[in-house]
Amino acid sequence: MREFDYVIIGGGCAGLSLAYELEIHEKFKNKTLAIIEPRNDYIRDKTWSFWKVAAHNFEDCVKHSWSNFSINIPNQTKYIECDNFPYQSIDSGLFYQKIINTLKKNTNIHFFKNINEISTENSFVFNSVSDVSDSKNDLWQHFSGIEIETNKDVFDDQIFNLMDFDCDQRDSVHFFYTLPFSKKKALVETTWVSNLNHPSNQDYSTQLEDYIKNKLKIKNYEIKFKETGAIPLFHPKNIKKINQMEIGTAGGMTRLSTGYTFMNIQDQSKYIRENFESIEKVDYFTINSKYKILDNIFLKVLKKNSDQMPEIFFKMFNCSPSTVINFLSNKSNIYEDFSIILKMPKLVFLKELF
Ligand SMILES: Cc1cc2nc3c(=O)[nH]c(=O)nc-3n(C[C@H](O)[C@H](O)[C@H](O)COP(=O)(O)OP(=O)(O)OC[C@H]3O[C@@H](n4cnc5c(N)ncnc54)[C@H](O)[C@@H]3O)c2cc1C
Repeated sequence: MREFDYVIIGGGCAGLSLAYELEIHEKFKNKTLAIIEPRNDYIRDKTWSFWKVAAHNFEDCVKHSWSNFSINIPNQTKYIECDNFPYQSIDSGLFYQKIINTLKKNTNIHFFKNINEISTENSFVFNSVSDVSDSKNDLWQHFSGIEIETNKDVFDDQIFNLMDFDCDQRDSVHFFYTLPFSKKKALVETTWVSNLNHPSNQDYSTQLEDYIKNKLKIKNYEIKFKETGAIPLFHPKNIKKINQMEIGTAGGMTRLSTGYTFMNIQDQSKYIRENFESIEKVDYFTINSKYKILDNIFLKVLKKNSDQMPEIFFKMFNCSPSTVINFLSNKSNIYEDFSIILKMPKLVFLKELF
């Protein structure tokens, strides 16, 4: 059976981001890599969005970038500028194409559909696949979005709506998210934070149709693209294996309070590249533990006080934009952390501490 120096299990966001980062730094000149990915075709399946708090390798895959956003609760809207940290959306189709085209030029890099096709006995393995199928009771951010196109100019593509909580909450946390890519095109998503045991929340198409017609007041539109997903708001448990490192969602790269993962994956890829020569010995790259502690408290509050969450999210944005963005992107300093904490309702949070 064929052997490789390195194996990446899962050629999704984390697997490909890592392979690309290593390849552009010439780590496979004299070393071999196998990428295990079952999908037949790489087509657009997701839109990754984030505040650009650091440089990344995929500027040419950015579909749109905004310097303004809004957030709503019933009867109140906040308008926020984010010039210093623009919010970017990456088209996964462009991302896959760019990376595959680059990797295919290196004859030391090979793709396989199934791990059984190779031997991993003497390889170092980066694994981005974990089994979370029995975790329906845990908290997830689950959502569905459609990219719609209209005949007339209806959107303001200079500003996106991060969270519109002015909608049916059904004893859960629910908001709509609208990314206008042009005056005629936008991605509209319905997003829930709950466990996955309530199929009643998952009538996404009806929710989207109702929101577009009655809130956005758009009667005629065509659906150009659809994405549905669920991001675990818990870190998958992994059994530590010698010569194996978990990456991406499987490797704890999701920020638990928000579901943001893309930029953490980029940081993790850089860390692995910087430590590549001694990868067997280095510690795992992790999200700073202060965020894990704060996010766990936040999620405990969320589980018990879902009715208060729209107000809590809204209040968080009373801090300066850079403070909130740094906090949500794991780049905040201690003063910024305190500013955020001070905006939270003290009693509800204190109850979850003890
Ligand atoms: C629809 C959607 C939208 C998202 N939007 C955002 C966003 O806007 N911003 C953000 O920061 N995060 C977002 N996320 C969260 C996160 O960034 C993504 O889930 C990201 O794709 C995680 O990367 P990953 O490599 O861990 O997982 P994936 O990208 O899912 O990659 C895993 C890969 O493993 C492959 N695979 C599965 N089983 C096997 C197997 N047995 N053997 C080998 N390979 C296998 C899969 O085909 C897949 O290609 C989103 C998630 C989803 C689902």
